[in-house]
Amino acid sequence: MDTEQDFLFFNPRIATKYNPFYEGEYLVIQTYPREYKLIVEHRSFDYKNAKSHCELENLAHDYTSFSLRIFHDDKLCEVNYEGKPQSISKQQNWKIAQEYLEAHYDPHTDGEVVVCQCSYPYFSSLTSHISNSGEAMTSWQSLTCLVKDLGRDIQTCPNCNASLVRVDESEDDDFDDQVSRPIACIGCTNYHGVEYGDNVLVCGIHPNGSDSENCPDYHP
Ligand SMILES: [Zn+2]
Repeated sequence: MDTEQDFLFFNPRIATKYNPFYEGEYLVIQTYPREYKLIVEHRSFDYKNAKSHCELENLAHDYTSFSLRIFHDDKLCEVNYEGKPQSISKQQNWKIAQEYLEAHYDPHTDGEVVVCQCSYPYFSSLTSHISNSGEAMTSWQSLTCLVKDLGRDIQTCPNCNASLVRVDESEDDDFDDQVSRPIACIGCTNYHGVEYGDNVLVCGIHPNGSDSENCPDYHP
């Protein structure tokens, strides 16, 4: 006798999640926001059906974008106007190695899976090293984390060639500098904050800092 489980295949929610993709199958995928897992909204072997589903999804969502792909030669491809595979899609069904996924969710590690602008996932971690001048420095290191290609040190995205060097460190320094100020001085151009002997000159107008959080001489 057929059980309820035998028909799970017909339940689109379950079928979309667990079934492998088939040659010639159209997939409506989420292209924005990007996640490290491929988000498949809809699967169909019918081009017109998939295309109209994709258009409807785009109309229905303001902050999410969807795009149509076809599964061909084990890869996702862009679709031409006839519904035939055109070029290799930047989005693929990336498979991340389990150890990197675990590190991503582990709150005790300084590393996470990051998604490139093209959809390619890689592992970014804070690593310490000693600079030429003997200083201890930390910087972001990018590693490949796919099942078939893991632990390679990369500077550019293997999928789209974009630079993966995180350039936000100088901004972080600026941010740290801002939040270490007295609250009244955050964002103020009058702020000086330099130590002379035992005293910090906060600013020329209020050498010891403003008395209140709303400084009358605040100047952005
Ligand atoms: Zn990329």
